[in-house]
Amino acid sequence: MVIQLITLGCSKNLVDSEYLLKQLESNGHRVCHDTPGIESDVAILNTCGFILDARQESIDAILHFVDLKRRGKIGRLIVMGCLSERYKDELRKELPEVDGFYGVWDQRDIISDLNSAYDPGLGNHRWVTTPVHYAFLKISEGCNRKCSFCAIPGIRGMQRSKPLPDLTEEAENLASGGAKELILIAQDLTNYGIDLDGKNQLHSLLKSISGIDGIEWIRLHYAYPTGFPKEVIEFMAANEKVCNYLDIPIQHINNRILRSMQRGHGREAIEKLLNDFRTLIPDVALRTTIMAGYPGETDKEFEELVEFVRYFEFDRLGVFPYSAEEGTPASALKDDVPEKIKAERVDMLMELQQDISLKKNLSKTGSRFKVIIDREEGGHYTGRTEYDSPEVDNEVIIGKEKELRPGEFYSIEITGASEFDLLGKPVD
Ligand code: SF4
Repeated sequence: MVIQLITLGCSKNLVDSEYLLKQLESNGHRVCHDTPGIESDVAILNTCGFILDARQESIDAILHFVDLKRRGKIGRLIVMGCLSERYKDELRKELPEVDGFYGVWDQRDIISDLNSAYDPGLGNHRWVTTPVHYAFLKISEGCNRKCSFCAIPGIRGMQRSKPLPDLTEEAENLASGGAKELILIAQDLTNYGIDLDGKNQLHSLLKSISGIDGIEWIRLHYAYPTGFPKEVIEFMAANEKVCNYLDIPIQHINNRILRSMQRGHGREAIEKLLNDFRTLIPDVALRTTIMAGYPGETDKEFEELVEFVRYFEFDRLGVFPYSAEEGTPASALKDDVPEKIKAERVDMLMELQQDISLKKNLSKTGSRFKVIIDREEGGHYTGRTEYDSPEVDNEVIIGKEKELRPGEFYSIEITGASEFDLLGKPVD
């Protein structure tokens, strides 16, 4: 059969899709991923159910594929992932044209539904959908934290770390498939391993995968402030392969709001951790995510957040408006910050960050960096430094004065910059 899979949502969903594609391919099916317009016997939609906008995007995609099915472009339609996990019964009633709704842990059921066999021997193998030279490595799923605004523990359940030997084997498989950069992801990267034997194993995991030949960059995403192991910061500082980069969502900085968010730490703890990073790894690029318009957020509390962003100067910043999520503790609070104010607060923070980003990028002019080339497009190449993660951060735009190959590293001199991109030329 020809089976197409479409992934919506986050990189964790993408990794789930890659496991499933590998299983289906091993059963002799012709599989493809995110290939609009293809006709297929089966279409599988891996949905996102995190926040309102993401849910709407998933529902629109389902309706699109229901229409394709009506027009005979696809045979069967299967829906999986977070939206389906969260609203299976409602969706089944609303969308009888869909042949099957599955959750986030139901891959074996999907495989048997397609008259195929699940191969446990492929548990550490994936059909990689990203460019060959980088791949995500999902080190755990689910989350034990209790952030008041977050629906993920209710969708993905409690934390389940993938055992270290399996992750090492998976990383070796990815390396032998051509991956040079591994991007470690989870709902809560900080607590890796604690659910396995009560001990934090993030340091051990980094030691293990940094020993794999072919892997040159290891990048950490979705860290949580509370409990971040100091030995991991020291290992990052000492080990060339671990990028001087960390994605660590802080969500806010005001103590009253952090308490209401049930983040388990206050402003002091966040500042201490971030400053430890900058002290031990002076050139570290820190990415964070902030929420604006949380219930009860006063002008003064928002001002405190703005002041913090202004003086701390994150390297990368994402800002999202609060949206009340059904079943979360925060949804019991009055969502009293008007949508218009939320949007203004998001814009204000993003404008501030744009200035910070431009200043930081301009300061790189004249410097040389190790850059991996992601792709060739039109009259230039696009790459990244170790301070930039794929799809979310800055890119380096490089002219074609010299032929460069995607997936290879080159020494690049920065010749110019804008808010979110750098310009560069190859160094002979
Ligand atoms: S750590 Fe992240 S995934 Fe876990 S509850 Fe908090 S926001 Fe949600």
